[in-house]
Amino acid sequence: MAEPLLEVRGLTHAFPLGRRAVLRAVDHVSFTLRRGEVLGLVGESGSGKSTIARCVMNLLRPQSGQILYRGIDICDRRAFRANRRTLQAERQIIFQDSGSSLNGRMRMCDIIAEPMRIQHVRPPRGSYRAEAEFQMRYVGLDAGYLDKYPGELSGGQRQRVAIARALSMEPELLVADEPVASLDVSIQAQIINLLKNIQKELGIAYLFIAHDLSMVKHISDRIGVMYLGHLVEEGDSKELYANPMHPYTKALLSAVPIPDPLVGKSRKRIMLEGELPSPINPPSGCPFRTRCPYANEKCANEMPKMKEINGRKVACHMVG
Ligand code: SF4
Repeated sequence: MAEPLLEVRGLTHAFPLGRRAVLRAVDHVSFTLRRGEVLGLVGESGSGKSTIARCVMNLLRPQSGQILYRGIDICDRRAFRANRRTLQAERQIIFQDSGSSLNGRMRMCDIIAEPMRIQHVRPPRGSYRAEAEFQMRYVGLDAGYLDKYPGELSGGQRQRVAIARALSMEPELLVADEPVASLDVSIQAQIINLLKNIQKELGIAYLFIAHDLSMVKHISDRIGVMYLGHLVEEGDSKELYANPMHPYTKALLSAVPIPDPLVGKSRKRIMLEGELPSPINPPSGCPFRTRCPYANEKCANEMPKMKEINGRKVACHMVG
């Protein structure tokens, strides 16, 4: 088994709202991502996925918990400063909205080369422009786009440029924060396939964030399911699909469309009642209890602990 690249331990982050209220975005989340592995994080909007992505990229400082990248505690200012070059070069991120993540006043060649310029990286192919051209072709774009501005490209093309920019630093870890959520369905598949091929060829570890399970199914080795700031289930991708254990994972999976109408007809859809509770005023006990068809008194009084069952991690009183 490959060595751990990223270890997230008890990560907790809350956003203060006025004097008394706080929004608990992430609550004691722990997971490990190994070298060359793809971990898909799924959950509804507001489940804390993007907050985790931002903490992993040092764009947010968590209130408690640890994030170790190659054993370096990236939340420790001293450790971060001592390893700044490595940490900034090796971790790259792709955001959901390429329209706002690419500077509209810069040409593509400058956008792709910008991280290398900032980090004073010598371009492996002689010049920044040559490197930008190589990366551009690598992500399937014509070199003719090098002098264009983001506004002249489609959403899918811009997302390819965002990927090229990330690859220019030869990262070990790529955080993809809902990279296809704002694209048309036909383009989504192209970008997912591109990311999948890049991962196979370069062996980069991905933390791949999406809001539905069908999106991460084909790209992830392991999947983590988030609900209201908590990680409720985590395990091998194929096993989790074949045998979901947490009631929320079961409901999410039952909503994934099946291309075969006969199989689709025989499957029972689990409809969740109600809305996702507010993270400002979360329910007592299990965070899923207000929508869970199996909730009982214990669920209201006690937060379920994460249990490990045959390599699967599940936080539910009823499981195991
Ligand atoms: Fe449902 Fe209770 Fe399990 Fe929570 S702990 S998922 S409420 S059965």
